[in-house]
Amino acid sequence: MSDADYVIVGAGSAGCVLASRLSEDPNVSVTIVEAGGKGKHPNISIPAAFAKQFKTKLDWDYCTEPEPHCDNRSLYVPRGKGLGGSSNMNAMLYVRGRPLDYDRWERDHGATGWGWEGVLPYFLKAEDNQRGKSEFHGSGGPVRIEDVRSPRKLTGRIMAAVENAGVPRIDDYNGPEQDGVSPAQVFQKNGRRWSAADAYLRPAMKRPNLTTLTNKQAVGLELDGTRVTGVKLAGGDVVRARRDVILAAGAIGSPQLLLLSGIGPVQHLDEVGIPVARDLPGVGSNLQDHPYCTLVWESSVPESLYGADKPKYLLEWLFRKSGPLTSSVGEAFAFVRSRPGLPAADIQFHFAPAYFVDHGNEEFDGHAFTMGPVLVTPRSRGTVRLSSADPDAKPRILTNSLGDPEDMAAFVQSVKLARAWAHTAPLGDVTGREFYPGPEVESDEDIEAWVRSHVELIYHPTGTCKMGSGEDAVVDPQLRVRGLEGLRVCDASIFPVIPGGNTNAPAMMVAEKGADVIRAG
Ligand SMILES: Cc1cc2nc3c(=O)[nH]c(=O)nc-3n(C[C@H](O)[C@H](O)[C@H](O)COP(=O)(O)OP(=O)(O)OC[C@H]3O[C@@H](n4cnc5c(N)ncnc54)[C@H](O)[C@@H]3O)c2cc1C
Repeated sequence: MSDADYVIVGAGSAGCVLASRLSEDPNVSVTIVEAGGKGKHPNISIPAAFAKQFKTKLDWDYCTEPEPHCDNRSLYVPRGKGLGGSSNMNAMLYVRGRPLDYDRWERDHGATGWGWEGVLPYFLKAEDNQRGKSEFHGSGGPVRIEDVRSPRKLTGRIMAAVENAGVPRIDDYNGPEQDGVSPAQVFQKNGRRWSAADAYLRPAMKRPNLTTLTNKQAVGLELDGTRVTGVKLAGGDVVRARRDVILAAGAIGSPQLLLLSGIGPVQHLDEVGIPVARDLPGVGSNLQDHPYCTLVWESSVPESLYGADKPKYLLEWLFRKSGPLTSSVGEAFAFVRSRPGLPAADIQFHFAPAYFVDHGNEEFDGHAFTMGPVLVTPRSRGTVRLSSADPDAKPRILTNSLGDPEDMAAFVQSVKLARAWAHTAPLGDVTGREFYPGPEVESDEDIEAWVRSHVELIYHPTGTCKMGSGEDAVVDPQLRVRGLEGLRVCDASIFPVIPGGNTNAPAMMVAEKGADVIRAG
């Protein structure tokens, strides 16, 4: 059944890139297996509708175990399902992180060749930036990157206030300097989402050497001794790989599939009654995500996204691809350091001209704005574990967020900064009630307690099949699973350390470089 040289599991941000790049060679056959459907729905294309996909069939809809440092709350972990994966559902923000993030991959974790010099060419190769080619940007690549098309006026006020409060204004946080306040750039083409499926997979699907299977869930790997020979699908079929099986099922799906196949820490496999194929202690460990809070104020001027769902705006989007529905909701950033002496920003504020609370579930009937501080260098590490040997059982996810006192101190400082900015002109002139944290939250202790009771994850799970050279590494720098033949992992799960920014561009970069690494043998 659709046997091929390469069998890729998961058509998300990384899988779409791999399928396209590997099938460029007409002498090589590629099959990509995706659990979800074709990834076509208006809530995927319309940028501002991304949160409407949550908890629908387009979402794996995971959550963490009760988090011990977050008041034992379970935190929501959405993951895109269908061709495009999480690049269908994400907020489209185009952020790479800093050179030092990748230099740490290479220097501290043994990911040889994956330092900044090694990865920058692949960011550029992928990119088709509206602003054109430069030292830091590419043009002509598959990934269209545009400026926010119809930014709300309130976003301009927020940026001006942050600048007036002393944060430098920069044009390009993906350029030479990340620190500062700047408008976002987004994965969009002419005002609609430009997912990894749009950029890479759909154009490649007409090639005779690429087979795309949808609604096919991988449930395990077929092994012959230490060689992985194929992928078992729900229903009993097996797709065999002549060269490699490549897992690109994401930071939850890839370790889950390894564990279901008996590849992982012996003790855990024993617990869930799965025979051990290969003892690999690092599988499912090293989970990192970015914790964030949403601080929200009422606004006295009609300059927000409130009312964006009116029929006239839908018509404007349908016919002109402009207006509020082109918004990524987060329209600008500020990267700042919570204290002196840090080598790079530890907080990334997302600024939204909207009321964004509880993943968009809580609504407010009026104009508002949100400042979302995100901890970009979290110190906590978590795990992905199986709850049982049943492939349909949701895995047990734990991030241990806020387990480190320095992480909490950064959040306390970020609340203070946001409050000062909310009352700086020209934003302060229109700022009304503080909804969150709320005026009753005053002292540092109050803020800490509020953060613990409100912190969430900003949808960036990574690191659970770590690349490197140590005993905790799951893959080597050639992305080969240690101790096995014919098996690689290539997606956000291989990041040794989460980069200081959003994770979609890094996941696609990993697959751009990964395709070259895999082709080299
Ligand atoms: C709501 C949300 C908002 C986000 N916002 C941003 C943002 O604005 N900017 C940014 O840079 N990043 C953002 N991200 C994060 C970014 O999208 C991810 O880091 C990136 O998409 C991860 O890519 P991946 O290839 O590792 O995994 P995914 O894109 O999740 O791909 C995994 C694929 O594997 C499939 N799969 C899983 N298990 C199986 C199986 N057993 N069998 C077959 N198929 C399987 C899945 O259905 C999916 O298609 C956001 C993510 C979400 C969910």
